[in-house]
Amino acid sequence: MTGLNQIGVPTHFIRRLNMREQLVRACEIIPLEIVVRNYAAGSISTRLGIEEGQQLPRPIVEYYFKDDKLGDPMVTEEHIAAFGWASQQDMDDVLSLALRVNDFLSGLMLGVGIRLIDFKIEVGRIYDGDFQRLVVADEISPDSCRLWDINSGRKLDKDVFRRDLGSLTDAYSEVARRLGVMPNEPTQMTKPKLIN
Ligand code: UDP
Repeated sequence: MTGLNQIGVPTHFIRRLNMREQLVRACEIIPLEIVVRNYAAGSISTRLGIEEGQQLPRPIVEYYFKDDKLGDPMVTEEHIAAFGWASQQDMDDVLSLALRVNDFLSGLMLGVGIRLIDFKIEVGRIYDGDFQRLVVADEISPDSCRLWDINSGRKLDKDVFRRDLGSLTDAYSEVARRLGVMPNEPTQMTKPKLIN
C-alpha cells in the first residue's frame, strides 16, 4: 500500500501502527471484488478450460458482486450500471486503478522472483468535503493473490492451504522474507489502541 501511494495510486492506507494494526481512511466500499489475471488459474481455468499457468494474451479484469450468500457471482459492467453499484465514471477509475496495481505488483513480485498470476482488490469511496474519489482498500496479501515462484512454480499463496500443498506459514513467510517485511526479531505485541 505504501508503494502504491508513492507511485500515485491512492489507497486507504495511512500508516502502519505495529505488526498487527494499520491506520486507514474510512471509506465506503464498492460492493465488487475486482480480479486481475495475468496467467490462467483457479476459476477462469475451470470456467473456460484453460490450463493453469498459461499466460493470457493480456491482463483480464473481472468483476464479482460481493455477496457471500450468493457465492460472489461474476457480473458485467451492465449489471453494475443497471443496479447502480457504481457509475460509468467510477468504473473507468476502477479499471485504471486495477491495471496500475497490476503493473506495480507484477514488477514488485518479479523483483523477488515471484510471478503474479492473479489478484483481487477492493475499491472504496472517500469523501473530502464536497469531493469524492476512489481508493484501493481492503488488503493485498497472499490471501488475495496467486503468487508462484518463477523458477520452481512453487505456490506461495492461499492455494497452499486450499489444495493441501504443505505449510501455509512457510509459504507466507517466504513471501514476507523476499519482500523484506519479515521482522527478524519477534515483535513486541501490545494491546490494540483506539486512534482518534
Ligand atoms: N480471490 C479473493 N477472494 C475471493 C475470491 C477470489 O481474494 O473471494 C482472489 C483469489 O485468491 C485469486 C483471484 O482472486 O488470487 C482469482 O480467484 P478465482 O476467481 O480464480 O477464484 P478461486 O479459485 O480463488 O476461488
